[in-house]
Amino acid sequence: MNNELAINGGVPIRDTYLSYGKQFIDEKDIEKVVEILKGDYLTTGPNVAEFEKKVAYYVGAKYAVAVSNGTAALHAACYAAGIKEGDEVLVPAITFAASSNCVLYCGGKPIFVDLDPQTYNIDVNKIEEKITARTKAIIPVDFSGQSIDIDKIMEIAKKYNLIVIEDAAHALGSEYKGKKVGTIADMTEFSFHPVKPVTTAEGGVIVTNSKEYYDKMMLFRSHGITRDSELMIENHGPWYYEQIDLGYNYRITDLQCALGISQMDKLDSFIKRRREIVKRYNDAFKELDELKTPFEAEFSNSGWHIYVIVLDLDKLSVGRKEIFEALQKENIGVNVHYLPVYMHPYYQSLGYKKGKCPVAEDLYNRMITIPLFPSMSDYDVESVINGVRKVINHYRK
Ligand SMILES: *Cc1c(COP(=O)(O)O)cnc(C)c1O
Repeated sequence: MNNELAINGGVPIRDTYLSYGKQFIDEKDIEKVVEILKGDYLTTGPNVAEFEKKVAYYVGAKYAVAVSNGTAALHAACYAAGIKEGDEVLVPAITFAASSNCVLYCGGKPIFVDLDPQTYNIDVNKIEEKITARTKAIIPVDFSGQSIDIDKIMEIAKKYNLIVIEDAAHALGSEYKGKKVGTIADMTEFSFHPVKPVTTAEGGVIVTNSKEYYDKMMLFRSHGITRDSELMIENHGPWYYEQIDLGYNYRITDLQCALGISQMDKLDSFIKRRREIVKRYNDAFKELDELKTPFEAEFSNSGWHIYVIVLDLDKLSVGRKEIFEALQKENIGVNVHYLPVYMHPYYQSLGYKKGKCPVAEDLYNRMITIPLFPSMSDYDVESVINGVRKVINHYRK
């Protein structure tokens, strides 16, 4: 509960604080997890493979590997892509740091590409100018759930012999040209963090149509250890296994996968509700010239992980910070996705310079994420609209 006074010392638009995103867990989910607790497997059990099958089937991919979180999934994909010391990998300037940290884990160098000012996704027209002889891969992100123009990106990748790892952490269930995101890039990663489309608490999945990538990621997930006699140098007997490369313990648990299986059944209904809310927001905010609602390219049908408004600061008497704080005082949970990755102190310490991606830096100064999650009631939605209206009306120039 926020006790600060709202605009003009008045009462907030709503009396309880609404978070910007939230998981939806029902009795079925709880029963599924409790059932596993009473069973034989807590870590790797039959639910892991079943969850993988379910995600692969849902998006229409051949293979899926489930791991402990979305960041581990990206790391596994970078490993499978063979990213190593000296390799350059193109990443959009605005994304969660994990999209680029996974390159650093492998010794590679993230190269940041500016954003398309309409979609806030990687600007496909600025990719080629960043490609050098050292470029190995592209990690485009489906920001907010909107699909990237993956056909165009694959075309560029083919021309320069690059591997594409799609960071679809926001986009499970989103569509590109009428098909679920997840079948076109070489590998596609999904996150199952609680604010993401569906959750396993912590969890990540990479889907691919390549048996080679699949095998590599399965090995990477569990220490680089194999029991496959065709891959082993020796075989001493039934107990025997060999570590044939350096992997990690990135395994996901049966508990988490049981939750994931149960959550997947609800994904389409979650997305349906998210789209309803987005439509309501878009209609309501049309009248406000001081902000821009999301633009969606015609090839994309977003599942809407987040709803981002972009302020027109020329039309407002205060900056983004004041608008953000005023919304908080109305008990509306807001957020900013994200600081351009290279502006983080750690990236600055690696030598990245500010000012390199002007579209991203300008957007960062004007973006606000407002609440969007499937269990929002109609009252919640209307209170957010009224709160945004109230704040914008107050600070209009
Ligand atoms: C959430 C997210 C990830 C993965 O995050 P985890 O918390 O490790 O599951 C990766 N990329 C983006 C863009 C994300 O939003």
